[in-house]
Amino acid sequence: MNLDALWMPFSANKTFKQNPRILTSAQGMYFTDDKGRQILDGCAGLWCVNAGHGNERITQAIAEQSKKLDFAPFFNMSHDIGFKAAERLVEMAPKGFDKAFFTNSGSESADTSLKIALAYHAARGETGRVKFIGREKGYHGVNFGGTSVGGIGGNRKAFNHLLPFVDHIRHTLDIERNGFSKGLPAYGAEWADELENRIFTLHDPKSIAAVIIEPMSGSAGVIVPPQGYLQRIRDICTKHGILLIFDEVITGFGRTGGDWATNTMGVTPDILNCAKGLTNGTVPMGAVLVGNEIYNTVVDAAPEGAIEFAHGYTYTAHPLACAAAIATLDVYRDEGLFERAGQLAPKFEQAAHSLKGLPFVKDIRNIGLVAGIELETSAEGLGKRAGLVQQKCYEAGVLMRLTGETLALSPPLIVNEAQIDQIFSTIGEAVKAVANESAVKA
Ligand code: PMP
Repeated sequence: MNLDALWMPFSANKTFKQNPRILTSAQGMYFTDDKGRQILDGCAGLWCVNAGHGNERITQAIAEQSKKLDFAPFFNMSHDIGFKAAERLVEMAPKGFDKAFFTNSGSESADTSLKIALAYHAARGETGRVKFIGREKGYHGVNFGGTSVGGIGGNRKAFNHLLPFVDHIRHTLDIERNGFSKGLPAYGAEWADELENRIFTLHDPKSIAAVIIEPMSGSAGVIVPPQGYLQRIRDICTKHGILLIFDEVITGFGRTGGDWATNTMGVTPDILNCAKGLTNGTVPMGAVLVGNEIYNTVVDAAPEGAIEFAHGYTYTAHPLACAAAIATLDVYRDEGLFERAGQLAPKFEQAAHSLKGLPFVKDIRNIGLVAGIELETSAEGLGKRAGLVQQKCYEAGVLMRLTGETLALSPPLIVNEAQIDQIFSTIGEAVKAVANESAVKA
């Protein structure tokens, strides 16, 4: 195979070629690689294949749609399946979300949500609300808006100034006080107050358009919010007329042990972003959900016949993505996968925390069917030790995400108890092997 023509995203392109990992097919909980090995998918692809790979209802729906209507323009005209997909999504969205704006990714959802916030304030005559506040370690994709409000240093530093008028508050990771916590950690609700302090000391509250937050930070290494924190953020936003955006690109569709983090954590934003699990990862699609108040404000402010929100993509509500989304939401409902995630969560938690006490295991965090195992960073540099563990797990047939020094686990929601045990025992063995090797070297 010629590996030269492809510039790989978020990859060490040079290193990759020395030992390429290439997947060729997938079914259920397993990938097959080019050497014919079965690899247990411990991360639902990239936090997206929540119903497992190759689900027939979904693949068939896409195949049939491709024969019926492969593409249609979506500006000032439409197709039935676009409305149907929106109706199905809104039906299962948290209460108060009445309209879906379709995108093609989580990154596009982030930028779309920021623009909706600006459009909403402008429509109400609050044109001074132009600033955004994100968080350190936040991840909202890679477009300019999302990169700017995001707070993962490595993703920002090559791109210099990004968007102006953006500020960040701190993340909520506190291993000293909350180490090895299960579910929502006990300490740290007061960190939300930094939002209000910053608004008053560095900004005018009336200059802030929106605050954007992942209810649980995934890409920064599974950071679960402290009890009471999100509610405090919600209250501060409400008090100052600031829109609260939840980026549920990872936490949506069952991941936190129920349908949405909005519901499992009991705090409702004004704007809700999703993607990934919306189509089970099959066809790129995302969405931004809002309530009628935001939609009506933007739409009613424009004169009859004018475009009210000058934003959209060639592939907005792509027919294949819509077919995939409808079938995926049907599968989630009919197979009771969100309930299943909730039922398996205690087993998953117990299996994850069974690694406590192993060498170099610095912290374990979890909620629903997601867990992060953070290791001590070695002298070789950030991510090196966890990278060795990840590599060993892959060789032993289990795939997981690596973010910094944290191994992130988020299997498809069809995972069974034996596979949960396999995931964590494989990690345990790999951690021990890496510890032995480093002891020999020392
Ligand atoms: N927001 C969050 C919270 C994410 O986790 C991701 C992807 N990991 C994105 C946005 C970006 O999604 P995409 O890669 O589909 O653009």
